[in-house]
Amino acid sequence: MIVMLEPDSPESVVAQVEQTAAQFKDLSVRRHVVKGDEHTITEIYLLGHTQTVPAEAFEALPGVRRVVRVSAKYRIIGRHGQTGSQVGFEYNGVDFSERSVKVFAGLCAVDNRTNVAKVMSTLKAHGITTTRMGAYKPRTSPYEFQGLGASCLPWVFEEAGKAGVKVVAMEVTNPRHVDEIRDALAQAGDPTGVMLQIGTRNAQNFELLKAVGQQGRFPVLFKRGMGITLEESLNACEYVASEGNPKIVFCLRGVKTHLGEPHRNMVDFAHVPVVRRLTRLPVCIDPSHSVGRPEAGPDGIPDIFHAVGQGLIAGASMVLIDFHPDPEAAMCDGPQALRLENLPRFRAYTDRVRKAYEDVLALASV
Ligand code: PEP
Ligand code: MN
Repeated sequence: MIVMLEPDSPESVVAQVEQTAAQFKDLSVRRHVVKGDEHTITEIYLLGHTQTVPAEAFEALPGVRRVVRVSAKYRIIGRHGQTGSQVGFEYNGVDFSERSVKVFAGLCAVDNRTNVAKVMSTLKAHGITTTRMGAYKPRTSPYEFQGLGASCLPWVFEEAGKAGVKVVAMEVTNPRHVDEIRDALAQAGDPTGVMLQIGTRNAQNFELLKAVGQQGRFPVLFKRGMGITLEESLNACEYVASEGNPKIVFCLRGVKTHLGEPHRNMVDFAHVPVVRRLTRLPVCIDPSHSVGRPEAGPDGIPDIFHAVGQGLIAGASMVLIDFHPDPEAAMCDGPQALRLENLPRFRAYTDRVRKAYEDVLALASV
């Protein structure tokens, strides 16, 4: 059972809920606090034999917004049949709710400072404050470029700060990387924020999931496992949340099957509404790693754009996308990277599709 409190509830309200819970036998209590820049949301989880506990006992308390009985599945991330409940969180001044679309455009793999600076200044010129920068790259072959690792963090963060970038999505493959990121940010004077990306290959690396769940500072961008069920991927997010960090965005990035050819993966953006229905997590789409190719349709619009359109028209609120100043020279995933010159066109495209989604929503409500 979840007791949801009004935003910014004082300690006295929390204490009253906990005292009420103490009246019931064998009920344990766990607090979940999500601190946004503007509001703090507290939810109190009542665990144990809650079947006989009347919801009214809690609903009657001042400061309680709603009491929800949850199934055992997706206890924290689940939507539990509610409509319109609050989705997302705020981090470093960026609103990760479904109210807007965030474009995380940037390098699959950081290769040199010049390219990082070019990406950052282009983002700045177009008013984009979110990016992706891969420093730790999990590669299929041990002989391929593995990313620059901790050595590039100081200048990546400095360049982000100079461009006013507020959040950098960065994959971590080992809990040690989280410490390296925290240290490099501190050394640079915390000029930006970081969203920890869990890559598809680590979707069931439970020790890594627990580690990013136990730290509460950085939000998590969880990428769907490419060869496991959606249910298994959602359970992996529940690991992160159950360790104490509910600031998670769920990213669809395609699934592995040869039936998706000639695309790199089978695009799975038809699952956007499914994830939104089952959970309270904002949904991101990654068209670069799912499509994986630069070709365009006969209309001249790249397959990558079309895939983005499919995700946004279904209500995705974040896009993770590879851009590179010179894709032919990229050290990782060059063929799927868009040229930086295409950023304005991409931005215009996402704005139009989002607007279409909002128009359709408005129609549905009349
Ligand atoms: C990436 O985003 O660079 C990446 C490796 O993605 P995925 O884990 O989805 O393959
Ligand atoms: Mn990549």
